[in-house]
Amino acid sequence: MVMGEKKVTVALVGNPNAGKTTIFNNLTGARQHVGNYPGVTVEKKEGYRKFNDKEFFIVDLPGTYSLTAYSLEEVITRNFIVNDKPEMVIDIVDTSNLERNLYLTVQLLELERPAILALNMIDVANSTGLKIDDSKLSKYLGGISVIRTNGVGNEGMENLLESISKTNNNRNFSSFRLNYGKEIEAAIQNLEPLLTPLYKNIQFPTRWLALKLLENDTDIIESVQGLEGAQQALQMSNELRRELLRELGEDVEVFIAGQRYQFVGKVYQHAVDSRNVNAETISDKIDKFLTNRVFGLPIFFALMWLVFNLVFTLGAIPSDMIDAGFGAFGSYLDGIISDGPLKSLIVDGVVGGVGSVLVFIPSILLLFLAIAILEDTGYMARAAFIMDRVMRRFGLHGKSFIPLLLGFGCSATAMMGTRTLENPRDRIITMLVSPLMSCSAKLPVYTILIAAFFEEKIAGNVLFSIYLLGIILAMIMAWVFRTTLFEGESEPFVMELPPYRVPTFKSVLIHMWERSTLYLKKAGTIILAASILMWFLTTYPKDIEYAKDYDGLLAMAEEAYSEQVVKEVLLPLSIEELSENAKVATLVDVIQQEEESFLEQTKELEESSSEYSVLMAAKEQKKQQLEKENTEVYSYAEKYITLTQSLEENKANIGNEKSGENLEKSYAGQFGKAIEPAIRPLGFDWRIGISLVSGVTAKEVVVSTMGTIYSIGDGNENASSMTKALQKDEHMNPLVAYALMIFVLIYSPCLAALAVMKRETNSWKWPAVSFVYSTTLAWIVTFLIYQGGKLLGFGS
Ligand code: GDP
Ligand code: MG
Repeated sequence: MVMGEKKVTVALVGNPNAGKTTIFNNLTGARQHVGNYPGVTVEKKEGYRKFNDKEFFIVDLPGTYSLTAYSLEEVITRNFIVNDKPEMVIDIVDTSNLERNLYLTVQLLELERPAILALNMIDVANSTGLKIDDSKLSKYLGGISVIRTNGVGNEGMENLLESISKTNNNRNFSSFRLNYGKEIEAAIQNLEPLLTPLYKNIQFPTRWLALKLLENDTDIIESVQGLEGAQQALQMSNELRRELLRELGEDVEVFIAGQRYQFVGKVYQHAVDSRNVNAETISDKIDKFLTNRVFGLPIFFALMWLVFNLVFTLGAIPSDMIDAGFGAFGSYLDGIISDGPLKSLIVDGVVGGVGSVLVFIPSILLLFLAIAILEDTGYMARAAFIMDRVMRRFGLHGKSFIPLLLGFGCSATAMMGTRTLENPRDRIITMLVSPLMSCSAKLPVYTILIAAFFEEKIAGNVLFSIYLLGIILAMIMAWVFRTTLFEGESEPFVMELPPYRVPTFKSVLIHMWERSTLYLKKAGTIILAASILMWFLTTYPKDIEYAKDYDGLLAMAEEAYSEQVVKEVLLPLSIEELSENAKVATLVDVIQQEEESFLEQTKELEESSSEYSVLMAAKEQKKQQLEKENTEVYSYAEKYITLTQSLEENKANIGNEKSGENLEKSYAGQFGKAIEPAIRPLGFDWRIGISLVSGVTAKEVVVSTMGTIYSIGDGNENASSMTKALQKDEHMNPLVAYALMIFVLIYSPCLAALAVMKRETNSWKWPAVSFVYSTTLAWIVTFLIYQGGKLLGFGS
């Protein structure tokens, strides 16, 4: 076959932050696709590049420091190299941290695929005065091609492509062999013959396989176990391990790692001249300050405080605009669609439900923007380091801090973020407690309830108290889990602190966008579906038996009204219709318009505000004026208006009572009634019960459900009307509202988070534990707060 026709697979490998993605983007341009590795959510980026008539298929593998089986990223990377057999592996190293990066290089070479070493960030290395002898480096590493690159400056890409096609043509990849010392080498020789027969089933190089068995690599042992002839090899490797332990005086894997480090140190010493390097980099200088024992924590908290304030104050501005937009859109639709189930579905169900959730997009975008900046500058890793001392007291690992922080954005993201933790016990504890961090989906619930029941002065403190309670509970629960389910110390803190960088605008935006789309998709799918389902469950069945004859009541009200109009207005004026007396009819119109415009102007105002009283006085004055001008008929016009108004009120009350009964007898209502006894001690009625149950699909749905429940009948869906509806509700008061916020904070993670947890732990056990423990905890804490509050006299 002619080379030019064959697809050449090129894998990019390297430490996190070495610049893989940057180079990947340089190489592939727009021809790329982002997906996930099968079964897991580690990102998989693939793209194409044509060069010298050859089509390269380029894969950006997950960043990793090593190729042991500690993390998913490591296993994915090595399996890809072994199973997919890329024609070329490009090892991208951060040249300014060459020694550390070479540790991975050595392990890559042991996988015996053709490879190229890309000395990336060469600009940084040069600026610090590092001098590298490329040919010596190549010699020590078995003759590998060495190419200097600058990902950001897009330099060296041509050379890289050139080198891929050349090396590939000649197939002259080197065989590299690190000598592990006579004991290990002897053991490898003993083991290799037993492993050769396995090669047809598992295509790892046999020398590497031998090393991994000696290292007791669990992933490899598992994949070998079932194979024919493997038992003998495994038995042999166990014996050898015991022997080696005696001979070497330390664990084999520790010894092997040590040999690798030694080798890398030697290569570095010979190939790199670091005499001119400033011992203290700028990053070191910044770190002296930011990770200082004394200032570290206060700076950290100050930054977090700043982030939260920015997120919530800046975010409020566009949120209000979106809210107003949806309100207007709802009214517009209300006007153009004719009455009936379709209108109710669209206006109440879809626009109301989804709209009440989309309002929070700006805050969420800002939160993710802040997290992306913290990550990309390198501060996030420092924060983990600073927090390690604190977290450790509660049985958490410093690295747990990052997923916990992500938890403020989204619990599902937080669970994915636990991947940075190597120890499975640390991971599970972190997954169990991270939903206690108040995720951004819970924010809408708090905002609505706080706006309705707490004065603006204390709103910030109320909100803060809930976030704080979440953090405290997370710490307590982590400690509880650590001392009961998972006894033992957490792993010691080993984490590379990447150098500080000025984040690029593009990468921050991409990071922010990737996370936010998750939320948007949720609003578009889960929340839309939940809104429609809730609308259905709250509107049907239609053919219920009403306790009262509402239609009869309506007719009676109309009749009484007509009688009174005749008696008190028409008869005294000796007319049969109001229109017969033009003067009165006009006056009625004028006064009504006056009242309407007053209502319109004061819609957003508090009755106690001075603006309100000014408008009120102006209206009264206008009416007095009218009275003077029309002394003889004014009282009749006013009488007529009062009667009409009270009829409207009567009708509205009857309508509300009817829709209230509708709701109560709907499917959702029946269900809510059924669970009401369980939540009554928390101060919740059946309507809150429905909202909470529906909120398990996604926490935002609590709001959209309340939106649907509390606004059925008045057709108006914006947040301020919901606030009013909540205030009017006799069952609600500040204590119930607070209890509700607490319950929403703690109870079961949403379906998405539970699903991610299942995928990450590969069993339904942990999502089940999470659901049960958090809902129980929510009940207990809410019970204490509600009943305690009532004892203290807050309950009214
Ligand atoms: P990955 O984690 O390996 O995918 O690394 P990224 O491609 O995301 O790069 C990490 C950071 O290093 C980004 O902020 C890049 O802009 C930056 N970067 C990448 N290559 C270079 C380089 O050659 N020189 C400099 N100065 N910065 C680089
Ligand atoms: Mg990357």
